[in-house]
Formats: sequence, C-alpha cells, structure tokens
Amino acid sequence: MKILEDRIRRDGVVKAGNVLKVDSFLNHCMDVELFRQMGLEWKRLFADRPINKILTIEASGIGIACIVAAEFGVPVVFAKKAQSINLDGEMYTTKIESFTHKKSYDVIVSKKFLSPDDHILVIDDFLANGCAINGLIELIDEAGATVEGVGIAIEKGFQQGGKLIRERGIRLESLAIVESMDDTTGEVVFRNN
Ligand code: 5GP
Repeated sequence: MKILEDRIRRDGVVKAGNVLKVDSFLNHCMDVELFRQMGLEWKRLFADRPINKILTIEASGIGIACIVAAEFGVPVVFAKKAQSINLDGEMYTTKIESFTHKKSYDVIVSKKFLSPDDHILVIDDFLANGCAINGLIELIDEAGATVEGVGIAIEKGFQQGGKLIRERGIRLESLAIVESMDDTTGEVVFRNN
C-alpha cells in the first residue's frame, strides 16, 4: 500500500536489532486518517469473507483495530496480557513470546467474547517471527471460531512469521512488506518495488 510505504520511508526510523520505529504515526502517536485508509484497503481485500469480529492484542494493535472495525461495522476484541494469578476457567489463554521485549507472557480472552459462530479477522501492527499472531490464532482455535484472515500493517519479510502463516493456508494481507532495512543508512526496501 503506497501511502503506508511512503510514510514508513519518510517517518520510520530503523533501529539496531531489526526494529523499525514507527511511533510517530502508527503505535504511539496515531494517524487515524492513515488507519482509515488501511481499513478501507483490508475491507477491499477481505470483501469475500464473512467477517463479524476483529481480534487484536494489546497494546499497539488496538488503535488500528478499532478504526478497521469501524470500516467493517463489527466489534473489536483485544487479547489482554495477564498475570498468571488472574487466569481462571472463564478465559481462553495462551503464551506469547515478545519480539520487542524478549520475554514470554500469558494472554487471555474472556470466553464471553469468542464463540464457534465467530468469523475473525486478526489485525496487528507488526509481523516479525509470528509469535503474537500464532497466539491469537490459538485463542481462536480454542474457541472453535474461524480465522478468516490476518491483516498486518508492516510485515518484516526477512523474518519467518509471514512464511509460517502463509504455509498454514491462512490468508495474510500485509499492507507493507519490508524486504530489508539498514540501521546505518536508514534505508528501507519494500517487497515488489
Ligand atoms: P512477532 O510476534 O511476530 O515476532 O512480533 C510481533 C510483535 O512484536 C508486534 O505485535 C509488535 O508489537 C512487535 N514488533 C515486532 N517487530 C517490531 C518492529 O520492528 N518495530 C516495532 N515497533 N514493533 C515490533
């Protein structure tokens, strides 16, 4: 998606350790008009899917997912990062390894908010090794709901997450796929460019 790629080139900052910082428009200060354009694009890409709910994970997925959900006219559920002490039988739970924080944590969704009738679009800001998205798919599987697809703002194509999800036959639509990036020059190269 050209406007997202242009924005990453203009305002993204490449950090050491394969981290792309986009906090000036995506996950700290949020450009809601950009999110709306992204929502319209995912609506076009997933037009053939009977999506009735969006699932994301706190914190940085929530802003994007809310605007996308408004475009689809459906509710958003976000998986919460939990203390183990809070876990009980009323929750679907899984463990996720964090790429940015290098630690693992439990995530939960209340059984009230995911059911076998649900057809879910999973939304997140980044896809790196795929741990976050895998965890969300596990929660959907636990609920017996259907994964209709995954929408990612920025996929880092040089990490394995995208490949693993596509190999499972899950429809993945990433709006910008970074092929490579260089923290000395700041250059970001996108796939298909
Ligand atoms: P994964 O679970 O796919 O390895 O990593 C995805 C999660 O890590 C995303 O939810 C995102 O919050 C974070 N993340 C991964 N790579 C980056 C990055 O380059 N920049 C930022 N800002 N977050 C990232």
